[in-house]
Amino acid sequence: MSNVFNFSAGPAMLPAEVMQQAQAEFLNWRDSGCSVMEVSHRGKDFIEVAATAEQDLRDLLNVPENYKVLFAHGGGRGQFASVPLNISTSSDTSLHMVTGSWSKGAVAEAAKYNNAKVIGETIEVDGLQAVAKVTEADVDQSAAYLHFCPNETVDGVAFDWLPESGNVPLVSDMSSCILSKPLDVSAHGIIYAGAQKNIGPSGLSVLIVRDDLIGKARKETPSIFDYELMAKHDSMYNTPPTFSWYLAGLVFKWLKSNGGLTAMQQRNEAKAALLYGAIDGSDFYSNPVHPDNRSIMNVPFHLADDSLNQKFLEQSDAAGLKALKGHRSVGGMRASIYNAMSVEGVAALVEFMKQFEKENG
Ligand SMILES: *Cc1c(COP(=O)(O)O)cnc(C)c1O
Repeated sequence: MSNVFNFSAGPAMLPAEVMQQAQAEFLNWRDSGCSVMEVSHRGKDFIEVAATAEQDLRDLLNVPENYKVLFAHGGGRGQFASVPLNISTSSDTSLHMVTGSWSKGAVAEAAKYNNAKVIGETIEVDGLQAVAKVTEADVDQSAAYLHFCPNETVDGVAFDWLPESGNVPLVSDMSSCILSKPLDVSAHGIIYAGAQKNIGPSGLSVLIVRDDLIGKARKETPSIFDYELMAKHDSMYNTPPTFSWYLAGLVFKWLKSNGGLTAMQQRNEAKAALLYGAIDGSDFYSNPVHPDNRSIMNVPFHLADDSLNQKFLEQSDAAGLKALKGHRSVGGMRASIYNAMSVEGVAALVEFMKQFEKENG
């Protein structure tokens, strides 16, 4: 393996051990003489992989019995449409916290299908982006659901509390933070995540859906996105993205053998503290998010002088620190430090940042 640290926001790096295992069994999986991607999803071997992945995810997140775990097509955005089709009518209201570009995308898509309303937006506190608490008084109790994104991948805005929604089901887009720390599934109606940040390769999304929200899909809902059909067919109503599912299963095993989500949280918080510490300890770098709302997964930062951006990117890339360019809508830099990123990788970035400041600050 080369000396490269990949800070891509997604598709993102995967644990080296997982990639090595996938490589070792790529051409000859379970002594079948075939690759896992070449076998039937309905065969005994693949069904075992699928069921084990589900059980491992349930173990990691302590998913209660009254929730289904579904493996779907269509990534994160697929659920922007699937959620309204499955749990609202066209005259229902859906409520949306908009705390960054992904939750903004979710409300725009929901508005095609129901009466989508924004109830919470990012606010400015001391010149920094922050998230205002949502309490029951803000929540129309007749709404079909309340959608939020606890970790905004592009903006680096996050919050670790839950909106107080009364009886309105919470729907959470956890594409970029699922499995980064323990989670209270039972407080949610639906949790969904595109796989390519913290779970596995793209092409897959993972859903955790409370039983009472299944079986309410509109009749025009595409069958492959109907939670009831998906659940009834163990997520194999049609051919699932088998390779992504298999690889996600390897990632779940890796998480379990590395201490589970409590250990991940400790490691992720240590990495984030290291990086934010370097940003805050310098006048050359800055982060636009209020300390209460900083993401531990995606860390955007700006250089004091934007004209140095290109030089920073070229030199960091040459030093083996890959994919640090910020999202085009935000500019500057962004380091995504998901579960698979080592402390060593973040330390190497911090070292580079100090050196770059010394030479250019
Ligand atoms: C990446 C991302 C998405 C979109 O995922 P796709 O799989 O590309 O559709 C949605 N929400 C969040 C929070 C994301 O990070």
